[in-house]
Amino acid sequence: MNTRQLKMEKIAFIGLGNMGGPMAANLVKKGFSVTAFDLSAPMLEKAVALGCVRAENAHAAIDRADVVVSMLPHGEAVRALYLGVHGLLQSMAAGTLLIECSTISANDARQVIAAAGERGIQAMDAPVSGGTAAAAAGTLSFMCGGEEATLQRAQPVLDAMGANIFHAGPAGSGQVAKICNNMLLAIHMIGTAEALQMGVDNGLDPKVLSDIMRASSGGNWSLEKYNPYPGVMDKVPAARDYQGGFSVALMLKDLGLAMDTAAASASSTPLGALAKNLYQLHGGDPINRALDFSSIQNLFRRPAGD
Ligand code: NAD
Repeated sequence: MNTRQLKMEKIAFIGLGNMGGPMAANLVKKGFSVTAFDLSAPMLEKAVALGCVRAENAHAAIDRADVVVSMLPHGEAVRALYLGVHGLLQSMAAGTLLIECSTISANDARQVIAAAGERGIQAMDAPVSGGTAAAAAGTLSFMCGGEEATLQRAQPVLDAMGANIFHAGPAGSGQVAKICNNMLLAIHMIGTAEALQMGVDNGLDPKVLSDIMRASSGGNWSLEKYNPYPGVMDKVPAARDYQGGFSVALMLKDLGLAMDTAAASASSTPLGALAKNLYQLHGGDPINRALDFSSIQNLFRRPAGD
């Protein structure tokens, strides 16, 4: 099937939050017809304002859809949506393409994909990296798990939302790649925050220290693209009191998935375990749980006057 034919197909998009909303909007911008649904009325309104067609519920959204894309907060929501008592797989037509983009466990992804396969539905896991900025810019990285033919069919849809499309391996592999990446992200964010704080505690300007470290062997994505110290970079969560972005709650979910995966494969992940502990400490306060994950900087900052 070529791109032109696929663009004439109908896409159903379910889950229009911080990530799903801008992803659906990019599909509309690229010429796809998108019918959208979210449990939250304000989120659905936002998507409709950006050109999506409103659906009253998930079943109505997938009616006559050729491609279904979902972007939900966690595995329970994905399982309920597809495998629940009134799950979508029961009414989804054979031949539909299902692209599941939420970050969930590899096992949940495999179960949904296997159940879809039994009904003649081509399905794959395709979690993303890049955050809300990349979702808005259409430059996400997709980590796909599933058959090559499924990925080929999904390619034009993924191209409309992302810049890097990777085939990680069979069903569930996208999720494994995603949690390896996010475990590393948590570790270098915490390392960056503690190094910056030690420099500041010793009289350095965090901006100067960041310039030095990014040109030296300590350079990493958290330091260069998502600096956690307020005042160093514009347009990052640290520049707006850590509002928006990727929440501590979602990072804790991903670190939980990473620890489950490590336990199942008997892998040693001491730094991942410590990162999870530190995020648990930070996220013990419900206010912090809703902040962007770079707010871990506050765990190391000293109260004023100390
Ligand atoms: P979010 O909480 O902003 O959005 C999730 C949306 O799903 C909400 O609007 C919610 O109302 C909706 N929803 C939940 N259950 C639903 C259902 N049954 N039917 C319809 N809608 C439903 O979360 P987000 O930040 O957009 O993240 C979504 C997924 O992407 C998560 O799995 C997250 O781990 C992953 N992710 C997030 C980021 C990020 O920077 N925010 C980056 C990469 C991956």
